[in-house]
Amino acid sequence: MQLYSTNNKSLNISLEEALFRGLSSDGGLFLPLNIPKLDATFFKNIANYSLKDIAFIVCCTLIGGDISATDLKLIIDEAINFDAPVKNIHDNIYVLELFHGPSLSFKDFGARFMASLMSYYLKRRNTDNSINILVATSGDTGSAVAQGFFNMDNIKITILYPSEKVSEIQEQQLTTLGNNITALEIDGTFDDCQRMVKEAFLDDELCQKLNLTSANSINIGRLIPQSIYYFYTYSQLPNKPLIISVPSGNFGNLSGGIIAKKMGLPVTKFIASTNINDIVPQYLDTGVYSPRQSIKTIANAMDVGTPSNFIRLSEFYSNDITKIRQDIIGRSYTDDEIRLVIKKVYSEFHYILDPHGAVAYLGLTDYLSESNINNVNGVFLETAHPAKFFEDIESILGEKITMPVSLQHAMEQQKLSIKVKNNFAALKEFLLSS
Ligand SMILES: *Cc1c(COP(=O)(O)O)cnc(C)c1O
Repeated sequence: MQLYSTNNKSLNISLEEALFRGLSSDGGLFLPLNIPKLDATFFKNIANYSLKDIAFIVCCTLIGGDISATDLKLIIDEAINFDAPVKNIHDNIYVLELFHGPSLSFKDFGARFMASLMSYYLKRRNTDNSINILVATSGDTGSAVAQGFFNMDNIKITILYPSEKVSEIQEQQLTTLGNNITALEIDGTFDDCQRMVKEAFLDDELCQKLNLTSANSINIGRLIPQSIYYFYTYSQLPNKPLIISVPSGNFGNLSGGIIAKKMGLPVTKFIASTNINDIVPQYLDTGVYSPRQSIKTIANAMDVGTPSNFIRLSEFYSNDITKIRQDIIGRSYTDDEIRLVIKKVYSEFHYILDPHGAVAYLGLTDYLSESNINNVNGVFLETAHPAKFFEDIESILGEKITMPVSLQHAMEQQKLSIKVKNNFAALKEFLLSS
């Protein structure tokens, strides 16, 4: 795979370089120069393939020039070791459950795949030089990255999270692993954490001494695996084209879907479903892109005011809004609408939506009822297990919900965090002394 930067079309770098750089030095995001199509036989036989079969075929097509088939198989076996089932909710409305990984959010796909890919390249480099990965998190990303890199040789992970501003479950998921995972509890906000990580990457001494690498959501290693489960959806519902509603914040998940469509997946429309942070739906409506400060909602993993993958979305369509509008419909919902639909879907169909999946369900069902499109299967993405938000869900439903075993386990572990002040000097001192 050859990649260019969204700020420099003529830059041409390898997958390995893009993976370890994260962001291009010109500030742009990496994108493949060419997205190949899958052949008709693949789609004809798709119902016979498992998730891992599909992952293998998609990865061979995208990055088979960089990594041998044998090694790709090992990477996929290690990274994608959980299912993503499609279930019927009612009529032609289906859910794709993306929360069966170790941290119970869809971010496990991206984080685990990136971890396996980095580990593969590090082993081939034939040195014992370890790398240090710094991540700032407001919750879900940190736990997926921690789980993905846990116990990997030569990779140390330092996670910065804002003290008392992540949920108890998220904090337990972040802080209890130990070994190569260090959790820094920052006396400040998520913005402080993000700023401190950015400053670390600008510090020559740290970069040289520690071999710093980022693992944030714009890394190409996280984008590639996020196209795989869109194909797997079609393999479970192979007879009709799809309309897919994606609960979106930074738009990495939807970017994966667009790659799948470009590779030939029959998707009639994507719905970009958001909470009231509706920067992209508003752009689709008005043609004006105006990022702004984010507002807190109960679908908090989508509280994003400056969607970092927007530039990729736009690039996929040569920055032509007419083309974007042909494929993507925008919808946004308030917290009250989210609460109401969680209650309704539970009482009518006995399915517990999480707040993010609820946004996607609303976007899908509203669009289908307004547009009179027939002969499609409608799919919305459930990006997190509802138990991750048990306080909100239990108060909405008025009853207790069952905790998955892995969450029960995380809740019982000892918290291991190190308190650090919210300034870069304190972070640097910690990193150089550890
Ligand atoms: C991160 C996240 C999202 C948003 O995904 P993007 O790729 O940033 O659009 C949605 N739901 C959950 C549960 C998440 O953790």
